[in-house]
Amino acid sequence: MGLSLHDSAVRRKVPFVPGNPLRVGIYTCGPTVYRYAHIGNLRTYLLTDLLVRSLRFLGYGTRSVQNITDVGHMHQERLERGEDKVIAAARAAKKSAREIAEFFTEAFFRDCRRMAFLPADVYPRASEHVPEMISLVRSLEERGVTYGEGGYLYFDVEKAPGYGDLSGASLGGGTPARRTEAGAHRHKKRPEDFVLWMPAEPGREYQWDSPWGRGWPGWHIECAAMAIRHLGPEFDIHVGGADLRFPHHENSRAMAMAATGKRFAALWMHAAHLLVEGKKMSKSAGNEYTLDDLENGPPGGGRGFSPEEFRYYCLILHYASPMNFTWAGQAGAARALSRLRDAYRKLASAGTAGEEAATTLREKFRAALEDDLNLPRALAVVHDAARSGIGGETVRSLAGAWDGILAVGLLPEAGAEGATACGMEGVPGEVGELARERAARRRAGDYAVADVLRKRIRAAGYGIDDTGTGAGRLRKL
Ligand SMILES: [Zn+2]
Repeated sequence: MGLSLHDSAVRRKVPFVPGNPLRVGIYTCGPTVYRYAHIGNLRTYLLTDLLVRSLRFLGYGTRSVQNITDVGHMHQERLERGEDKVIAAARAAKKSAREIAEFFTEAFFRDCRRMAFLPADVYPRASEHVPEMISLVRSLEERGVTYGEGGYLYFDVEKAPGYGDLSGASLGGGTPARRTEAGAHRHKKRPEDFVLWMPAEPGREYQWDSPWGRGWPGWHIECAAMAIRHLGPEFDIHVGGADLRFPHHENSRAMAMAATGKRFAALWMHAAHLLVEGKKMSKSAGNEYTLDDLENGPPGGGRGFSPEEFRYYCLILHYASPMNFTWAGQAGAARALSRLRDAYRKLASAGTAGEEAATTLREKFRAALEDDLNLPRALAVVHDAARSGIGGETVRSLAGAWDGILAVGLLPEAGAEGATACGMEGVPGEVGELARERAARRRAGDYAVADVLRKRIRAAGYGIDDTGTGAGRLRKL
């Protein structure tokens, strides 16, 4: 049958045709590191995890890139205050913007581990890719699609053929196009034009020299430059939250295409938004829940929930369906997961085979994944298997394979490939440490150090096979 995915750009499911099946390029808009990730962010990042796991399950190789936005980005309130949120948070805490960004970057990685997300191959930081951004803006300038004055440089959307194709935004004030800047951006010719470079205001820590004066890059240019740097001008899948479709993704795409003359992302996937008890999450409403909030339990008291239980709750819904998080719903999901684990544990010790029935279930599970990552349907198959009476080794193998996608601990001892997919059994502790350190360096995009660590691992008598994502597998030489 083959994999098909819903492409937001054409608004329908399309057969997935990768550029290179051994290296499917995926770019995900990552966190803006001035605060903790809330559960809505985590649901979006889960889409990338499910995508990567599913592609690997279906035999593809992946190269996954998720950026860290540590420069600040365009928000009305920031522009009115003349500072960005990283800096506002830093000032409040009497810390440097860099310290704050580092702190929340670490918090983000910790959340990823708790959610059992497979690590991306690279986590590029915006602040370390400013030369790439400047050279991208220069290409745009050479192509005559920019204008500006007084240290501000804008992208002229009228000169970008196909602008609006991704989001359906129409030029000239129609929805969802809207004014996103004011004040300083009075030189803009039209509301949809967006800033590529702007001058640094007094007190701004993150600022760089550029052909347009000392300043800092617009948000949209950051992602475009990092995607091109790490995946090339054409790659397979761009992932993000539905709220980023316009203007962020429309703008990233427009400028990348204008600068390179290439297609940029072949396919766009958007995770639907998450409400809490029917309401939009906000700081003022006090419902911007984090994983810690979930572990602490409902505000009125009651049991808390693990990241695994939240992960399971998300799997009940298709990624493109809006999710309404409720404490009752989370409790129900936790009970369902616990019953499912009990059922698998009993079946595993029952010793009854059932290879034929298992084959049918395997096929159904795979077909559900191939149908635009239909996890609710895949989960129904997992429940069917729990009721089927299939037992012993057969159910162990099913649980191991399926938990490679679900990562909710169906059978803890099944050895599912998940966050601990390092294959380090029987390896001296010191070598394991080197491998873990190397994985961390690779995640940070620090390949020179990662290479040195690989040599040290070799010197200790071990080879390491990179599996596309993750820490790789160690083997004795
Ligand atoms: Zn982005």
